[in-house]
Amino acid sequence: PGPQLPFDPTKKNVVVLGSGWGATSFLKSVDTSDYNIIVVSPRNFFLFTPLLPSVAVGTLNPKSILQPIRYLTRHKERQVTVIEAEATAVDPIKKTVTFHDDSEVQGEVSATTVPFDYLIYAVGAETQTFGIPGVKEHACFMKEIQDAEIMKRRFMDCVESAGFPGQSETEIKRLLHMVVVGGGPTGIEVSGELHDFLEDDLKSWYPELSDNIKITLVEALPSVLPMFSKELINYTESTFKESKIDILTGTMVKEVKDKSVVLQMPDKTISEVPVGMVVWAGGNKPRNVTVDLMSKLPDAQKNKRGLSIDDHLRMAGADGTIFALGDCTFSSYAPTAQVASQQGAYLARVFSQIAKRDRIASEIATAQAENRDVTTLQKQLEKAEKLRPFHYSHQGSLAYIGSEKAIADLVVFNQKFATGGVATFLFWRSAYLSTLFSLRNRVLVANDWLKVKLFGRDLARE
Ligand code: FAD
Ligand code: NAD
Repeated sequence: PGPQLPFDPTKKNVVVLGSGWGATSFLKSVDTSDYNIIVVSPRNFFLFTPLLPSVAVGTLNPKSILQPIRYLTRHKERQVTVIEAEATAVDPIKKTVTFHDDSEVQGEVSATTVPFDYLIYAVGAETQTFGIPGVKEHACFMKEIQDAEIMKRRFMDCVESAGFPGQSETEIKRLLHMVVVGGGPTGIEVSGELHDFLEDDLKSWYPELSDNIKITLVEALPSVLPMFSKELINYTESTFKESKIDILTGTMVKEVKDKSVVLQMPDKTISEVPVGMVVWAGGNKPRNVTVDLMSKLPDAQKNKRGLSIDDHLRMAGADGTIFALGDCTFSSYAPTAQVASQQGAYLARVFSQIAKRDRIASEIATAQAENRDVTTLQKQLEKAEKLRPFHYSHQGSLAYIGSEKAIADLVVFNQKFATGGVATFLFWRSAYLSTLFSLRNRVLVANDWLKVKLFGRDLARE
């Protein structure tokens, strides 16, 4: 038989679900000497989400922002098991996780259940569509690497079809109308990147079509980017105006059809607009496995927007054995990479302390069996049992808005300041270059940026 789990029965089993921001930050810092660590995730890599919209327009190569998770785990002191599978059920009472290999190729065994002593639950979220008709069928998304690749293909297909001989002007205008839904940072960044692609590349490669291209950003709330300061919202709106990106605020998408979107305008009238491509960036909602887990502890898990956790990231109602972090949780923190990665690093520290606590407790048991004095050990145990709550330190918010401009709400020495423009764009690039997962990613991304500067974006439709 293949590898058996757990591999060292004397150590506690820690199952980590996910290979995103929260899980990898935990794995980077955790001391593996005290635990059997098993990582389960349907994708065997980490995805650097902040640069995903750049992949969608061909500025970056998809591989440049991915890093296989084994790259991280193989450097750990003790073996870490990595399993490419999707967790389908967590039993918080029996303390087991069931997972399936849902990939195209499966062996004779493709589903199993493993026990855990501790669970690090970091499965992220999926895109919220509010059940709006046609979104799943006709829109592109911007969450996973495949989404960026699908968007790029779709977008280029619209451009090539618009160039087909004999196409009417109305049809050209429809094919070249790109609608982005959601004025949060994802929607803003996608619109900005799309604009750059049109401006820098399509104008010179498809001059006959470029005048017909139109980008519209639709947002249901009265303003875009509610998490940014007012002056940066104004700056983004004026930059979009200069870039000829229409912003429709107070406007709700009611349906997405094959060739149009149905909008409810601020005055409640309904308008059907022809489109070539719709990109849906409508926010987050919990995954099915999370909803299922919450339903097993109904008294403690009442918030439908995600797992409720305490100050130590313990899932409410789960007797301290399940820790949850990142986008799958609902807390006072925003669902951002910054929060998830700080939570992962915090949990790695908590696990060192738990290991220390367990070591002292077993020393006490041995000492007591040998009738030795345990006063000092008891004091050490009391200290080790005091877990500090998670404390989030906000470093600021950054977003790219197109035309080589970015916006940043920064916190420096506890002072907040807002900045936007080309210098902020250079800061945005250097900040993300330095936070990329590995040196390999940094070299690849820098190389992609240089390639685009020299030769333009890649227009091949794979
Ligand atoms: P994720 O990073 O989404 O990881 C979830 C992991 O769980 C994945 O590996 C997934 O494959 C795995 N998984 C899914 N289902 C299962 C299952 N059933 N069983 C096991 N594993 C499962 N935040 C910022 O702070 N700054 C930014 O600039 C920024 N830019 C962004 C740009 C885009 C386009 C997007 C979409 C998001 C951006 N975010 C940004 C938000 C940030 O990406 C998320 O907050 C962050 O990814 C949350 O981390 P996480 O670990 O909770 O989830
Ligand atoms: P979001 O929740 O921030 O924004 C989604 C927007 O879509 C909302 O403003 C909502 O009103 C709108 N919307 C939903 N349904 C609609 C409809 N039918 N019609 C019109 N508008 C509709 O989602 P996001 O932008 O994907 O961001 C998710 C999280 O990731 C946030 O916490 C964000 O801060 C983070 N993020 C950060 C960055 C960054 O810092 N640069 C980039 C991307 C995402």
